[in-house]
Amino acid sequence: MSRPIQAIIDYSALVHNLTIVRQYAPKARILAVLKANAYGHGLLHTANALKNVDGFALLELEAAITLRTIGYQQPILLLEGFFSTKEIALVEQYQLSPVIHHAEQVSMLSDFKNHKIDIFIKVNTGMNRLGLSPKQLPQVIKELTNNQHVKNITLMTHFASADDPSEKASVLRQLRCFETITETYNYPCSLANSAAIINYPETHSDWVRPGIMLYGASPFPDKTAADLNLLPVMTLSSKIIAIHDLEAGDKVGYHGLFKADDRMRIGIVACGYADGYPRHAPTGTPVLVNNQRSRLLGRISMDMLAIDLTGVKNTKLGDPVVLWGKGIPVEEIAMYAGTSSYQLLCGLSARVDRKFLKSF
Ligand SMILES: *Cc1c(COP(=O)(O)O)cnc(C)c1O
Repeated sequence: MSRPIQAIIDYSALVHNLTIVRQYAPKARILAVLKANAYGHGLLHTANALKNVDGFALLELEAAITLRTIGYQQPILLLEGFFSTKEIALVEQYQLSPVIHHAEQVSMLSDFKNHKIDIFIKVNTGMNRLGLSPKQLPQVIKELTNNQHVKNITLMTHFASADDPSEKASVLRQLRCFETITETYNYPCSLANSAAIINYPETHSDWVRPGIMLYGASPFPDKTAADLNLLPVMTLSSKIIAIHDLEAGDKVGYHGLFKADDRMRIGIVACGYADGYPRHAPTGTPVLVNNQRSRLLGRISMDMLAIDLTGVKNTKLGDPVVLWGKGIPVEEIAMYAGTSSYQLLCGLSARVDRKFLKSF
């Protein structure tokens, strides 16, 4: 028997979450964000579940080429554009749509040889991560409209705080900045990530860019995925591979970080930080054993973790344990571990088998 940990990826949940995106943004076209191996879910199966979407967005050139090679015809946006002139031939050959976010990329564009490509020009409206400054934009647009290798132009920006309910003013400031500098042009626009899709309909414009909500996690600290009618796509599960009965005073795991107050029963589960489970999850972080809620004990090891079986009915070796997903939201685990659902999902390690199920 192989090591029992696996990530079950629910195809029907992906399809469902895409319909929810459409309900939130009925007039916009959708670029499904598939960066980081589709947030850890597996690029090809995820793309297949979302195959009717209007376009894809990611950053990894190889992954973009794979999608094009296997036959996806829709726009494929490269969120960080190209990194050197060497990549330009591939961008042309596979008809990818790079983001242009700094002046150097504009001059690299003169190296294009034959084809015309679509580009997304990114404007920095206040996040100060990627994007041309509002001041630079008119000159860059002028250059690019005169560049014979450029076909269609879309203007885009990204919000710093759309997921923070107390930061509404910042989102509206960025929106106003974007509108002011783009209203003189007649180009399609793209602004909204998941949080903006849900909370700021005024940002939907022509293309929305949902990531986390497609995978069934809430972008907000104060709303659960269930509140938003989203279904978790990934369920990380494993099994109990050892059981121990402890006496009061016995300790568990590295540095004996957990100490039993009383007699108790514990289970050891085949899942550790090398699988992508957060090492900082403390004692008390919830798990599901045989569909009953229990808790982690002590320090997470590289390949194993310990859970409390006291009071959990009928436990035995081989019993299923859900670490996150169906029945136990990944956001909840993220909160206990002081991280985000994004990091947990895309941090699932390569050694964990992803098993795609049509329905689950
Ligand atoms: C990752 C990313 C998104 C998706 O963000 P979510 O919060 O996961 O919806 C959208 N736009 C850009 C530019 C991104 O880098």
